[in-house]
Amino acid sequence: SRPVRISVHLHPYGDGCTLLLSRDVTALEQAEAMRRDFVANVSHEIRTPLTVLIGFVETLQTLPLSAEERSRYLGLMAQQALRMQNVVQDLLTLSRLEGSPPPGMAEWTPVQSLLQRCEDEGRALSALLTQHQPHLLRFPAPEVLRAQGDIAGVPAELQSALSNLINNAVRYTPAGGCISVQWKREPDGRAVFSVHDTGPGIAPEHIPRLTERFYRVDRSRSRETGGTGLGLAIVKHVLQRHGATLDINSTLGKGSAFSVTFPANRLRGFAPST
Ligand code: ADP
Repeated sequence: SRPVRISVHLHPYGDGCTLLLSRDVTALEQAEAMRRDFVANVSHEIRTPLTVLIGFVETLQTLPLSAEERSRYLGLMAQQALRMQNVVQDLLTLSRLEGSPPPGMAEWTPVQSLLQRCEDEGRALSALLTQHQPHLLRFPAPEVLRAQGDIAGVPAELQSALSNLINNAVRYTPAGGCISVQWKREPDGRAVFSVHDTGPGIAPEHIPRLTERFYRVDRSRSRETGGTGLGLAIVKHVLQRHGATLDINSTLGKGSAFSVTFPANRLRGFAPST
């Protein structure tokens, strides 16, 4: 972050106005720089697949290709189009989250059904990405989850945030690795949802930046598995709306743990943790 520029003028009627004004200008400049960065990032994320797509269209128009080659090219074009669609979809999700008020506590979802849906998605993704050697996915037993009661919040929003952490673990952990999902109640009533993987791990200098929009440690790996670089930015937004926090612990070469802590007042009807 840039240093805040503060100019202090001794004014004959000095009341601190100059100081405040200068701080405001600096904040505006910072917001403007962030906006410019964001637009540059979005343009880059859309332009790259678009350029590839146009290249394929030109090839199809100009070269005499066999039916087999045409179908291969069309498959590659669909991949690029899908990549653009994912970026636009994630950008719309972010803007919707920023523009809508925080959800109330009116909706209660059983923890069991919330995590069951996350599990189904995680297993489907693992099967899709690593057909020959799927990951070992460990989830809490249904009866353990049933005892955890209900959680407050918008179910779809919460489920996609928790699923996102599981999907990242699946996407970044090599085939045959292990992903373990836990749900634990703290003695003070808070609940901790965590995803542990045996993936590549993340160097400490990257960790504080992972929830920034478009921040990726390894761009090519992210793209290969359909990443937009916006997933954790969305997760952070959703969790903030639910009063929850995200902690990331990781060791290079060993794996990572992403933990979400929900405040006690977001849970009801649970049994004490074991
Ligand atoms: P992406 O779409 O690139 O996955 P995310 O916002 O979900 O974007 O994640 C940001 C970056 O954090 C990823 O590009 C990747 O480098 C890193 N990352 C996220 N989850 C993991 C994980 N479980 N193991 C290793 N790296 C991860």
